Amino acid sequence: MRILLVEDDDMIGKAVSVALKDAAYAVDWVKDGETAERTLKYGEHQAVLLDLGLPKRDGMDVLRHLRKAGSRIPVIVITARDGVESRINGLDLGADDYLVKPFDINELLARLRAVVRRQGGQAAPLLTNGRVSLDPSTHKAMYQDATVILSAREFALLHALLLHPGRILTRGQLEEHLYGWSEEVESNAVDFLIHGVRKKLGAEVIKNVRGAGWMVEK
Ligand code: CA
Repeated sequence: MRILLVEDDDMIGKAVSVALKDAAYAVDWVKDGETAERTLKYGEHQAVLLDLGLPKRDGMDVLRHLRKAGSRIPVIVITARDGVESRINGLDLGADDYLVKPFDINELLARLRAVVRRQGGQAAPLLTNGRVSLDPSTHKAMYQDATVILSAREFALLHALLLHPGRILTRGQLEEHLYGWSEEVESNAVDFLIHGVRKKLGAEVIKNVRGAGWMVEK
């Protein structure tokens, strides 16, 4: 799962991106509204953490344009503007959630899991296709009688597949989910992770669609 963090404060930006990476997200961090807007046009991210007071373009403007363009990407606004009015504005403009600085990083992670889950059409905390289940808060995966703890990247890979059971994801799409811009991707990284998940849970958990990519069954 790849997150776009839009934050001009170095200290907060660093703390949030470290916490996100620790929680197995791929993170791209931009520091002004214009760059955020340009970046979001590529549609590479699965959620946005958006500060409002930003250089070049205000976060509210970024959000307004994003929704006007029809994007449904989950957006959590993080801001120091704690007035009730700006919260209502943010939600009216299409934010999915709202956090006021200073916030607890664990709360941010929990809210992020919740908006991503709702986006995938699942309200329950466990992500499942009816056979394999994944708990995003603990990185535990359950299949038949086995419960295993996946590594951060293995978790991110299975998470990407389980968000859309029945849909084939290509190598490129999986890499996009798993790695930020600044990260070097080894050519066999995806194969390596798939091998790891299969070894822990069973080979049948992830299906290889020859020449196309991988999927979990619906
Ligand atoms: Ca700011």
